[in-house]
Amino acid sequence: MAQSKPEDTEQWKPTPAVVTPAQQVGGPPSDAVVLFDGSNLDQWVSTQDKSPAGWTVTDGVLTVNKARGNIETRRSFRDYQLHLEWRIPADIAGSGQARGNSGLFLASTGDGDSGYELQILDSYDNATYVNGQAASLYKQHPPLVNASRKPGEWQTYDVVWRAPVFGGDGAVVSPATATVLHNGVLVQDNAVLAGETVYIGKPPSRPYTTAPIKLQAHGDPSAPISFRNIWVRELPPRS
Ligand code: MG
Repeated sequence: MAQSKPEDTEQWKPTPAVVTPAQQVGGPPSDAVVLFDGSNLDQWVSTQDKSPAGWTVTDGVLTVNKARGNIETRRSFRDYQLHLEWRIPADIAGSGQARGNSGLFLASTGDGDSGYELQILDSYDNATYVNGQAASLYKQHPPLVNASRKPGEWQTYDVVWRAPVFGGDGAVVSPATATVLHNGVLVQDNAVLAGETVYIGKPPSRPYTTAPIKLQAHGDPSAPISFRNIWVRELPPRS
């Protein structure tokens, strides 16, 4: 038998596509779709009626306008890597779920709060049910750790979202998964979703192929939170 050589286990093709990383840490790499760069909301619409998103852009920062409801991306996505930065107001008041509540819906499957929510909340010093605190996959998975920064400080989410795969009969063939870093700390490790986020009861799984990404205008009375630097990289389906 011929002797094994190092070359036997070398792979040369196909060569990975070249992606140029951003100069600045956290910035969009060359193949990203920039969803918000501080200038305008052209990539976003109102969830309710698909009119131009009515949230506020000031000094490069996007702030929730609760009166205008949720906003979502014009484009729809399937599997992706996403970066988003958010900030709870320094003077936030309230407690529990009524303290800086917003949310990143990884896939918006319809009106209102339908979809798969990664919770945004002030969880620096604010007790609530753990599967509803910041970086939870709401009502399904608490974060592995609480990596929250103080109100007034910018925080980051980096997410890898794998959409659920549905069979021809509408049944889930492979469930959605999410991996999340909060401020660079692993908080969701390939977490498997039971279905869509619901406040009460068992998560439903309504078939979809691609969906917008949605930001939540939560109805609690605390001051509205802000966002900046949002981008997404579409990923090929998991093989
Ligand atoms: Mg929320």
